[in-house]
Amino acid sequence: MHTAGLFTRSDLTIISRAAALAERLTTGYFCLPQDEWRRNPYGVFTRKEVDVSLYEKDAFANVVRYRKPISRRPATCEEKYGIVLQDPNILLALLRSSKHDLWSMGLFILTHELAHIVRFRKFGVDFFAAPEEAGTEERIVHDITREILAGVTNTDYIINLYQHQLDGMTVKKPS
Ligand SMILES: [Zn+2]
Repeated sequence: MHTAGLFTRSDLTIISRAAALAERLTTGYFCLPQDEWRRNPYGVFTRKEVDVSLYEKDAFANVVRYRKPISRRPATCEEKYGIVLQDPNILLALLRSSKHDLWSMGLFILTHELAHIVRFRKFGVDFFAAPEEAGTEERIVHDITREILAGVTNTDYIINLYQHQLDGMTVKKPS
């Protein structure tokens, strides 16, 4: 039984397995090289690893972009993307429903966020888009996620749940 706190170590194991599958699914969907995510690794963070400014009240996760130094001389930075999992929100949603579990929820969230990252990196989608544009992008990514996960066990319920949220959404940053 989960309490709506932070992910435990075993939760994180489930999340990393879900991430591995989400990586394979997005690679296939976007026809990317098989080693795409090895060549372009992304960070996965939970609440306790990020600043309070990255806490989101209503989202399950959000994408962040940051610069990581790769050499000192000459000073070179690499632009990287990361996924901040809002673990208390995810665990609370799990508590409220017996119909889904962390595995399918994690798979849904990570597939969605990886689709965002692919579109930012390869499709010229603006990370800092105005709210209206970001809202449109959110719907596109949701549709892509639905397509990617079509037929994947137990994710339909979550996709529909999120669809309701999206329908009532006031525009906000990609989440
Ligand atoms: Zn999103």
